[in-house]
Amino acid sequence: MAYDPNNIFARILRGEIPNNTVYEDDYALAFHDIQPQAPVHVLVIPKGAYVDMDDFTAKASPEAIAGFFTAIGTVARQLGVVEDGYRVLANTGANAHQEVPHLHFHLFAGRPLGPMIRRPR
Ligand code: 5GP
Repeated sequence: MAYDPNNIFARILRGEIPNNTVYEDDYALAFHDIQPQAPVHVLVIPKGAYVDMDDFTAKASPEAIAGFFTAIGTVARQLGVVEDGYRVLANTGANAHQEVPHLHFHLFAGRPLGPMIRRPR
């Protein structure tokens, strides 16, 4: 899938839409999810134009990849969620129900988060 420069997170990166920023550096921007699913629900996105994990890991430079993943760890420490634990998750593609076509990691914390995936009935 080609990158859509008008997706909502691209617009947030360009400052066209406000966000509640918790962290920013050269590689990543982290902000609170607009519809939090846990007491702490932060989205961490790379600054580059990548649709999803596949696009990012195929095309981003090692420096950009290292910088982005380092930022996720920094955000977790900054939020104070390391001791009790947290979950990071990147929906990728249709089966994962990815809604916004700019790579983003969800960071959930602040309560026991339950099993990783609901079992099929
Ligand atoms: P996905 O299903 O793509 O993994 O998750 C997209 C996430 O982006 C959802 O949790 C949704 O609440 C969040 N989201 C969508 N639009 C906005 C927005 O304009 N601002 C913020 N902060 N979060 C958004």
